[in-house]
Amino acid sequence: MAAARHEPVLHVDGNAAAGALSEVFRIDIIAALGRCRHCGSVKAVGEAMVFIDAPGIVVRCRDCQGVLLRLVETPTRYWLDLSGLNYLEIDRED
Ligand SMILES: [Zn+2]
Repeated sequence: MAAARHEPVLHVDGNAAAGALSEVFRIDIIAALGRCRHCGSVKAVGEAMVFIDAPGIVVRCRDCQGVLLRLVETPTRYWLDLSGLNYLEIDRED
């Protein structure tokens, strides 16, 4: 049965995506600033809304709920869609 449109969907914050994303990015992706392609909001990835009750991980903009990125893992590959981000701004100092 499909969920009703107005029922709130449970999600967690961007830190929930840290483990999987750190496997792909060898940088501090959670602290990186990303610009939402949908609304132009610029925020740290860690502030985004992460939906893990989906095929893979879906990270949505906290301001407009637009999809920022999707990550699907298989035993041999990662499938990463960053099309919801205009850019990522990554601090080079660790
Ligand atoms: Zn947005």
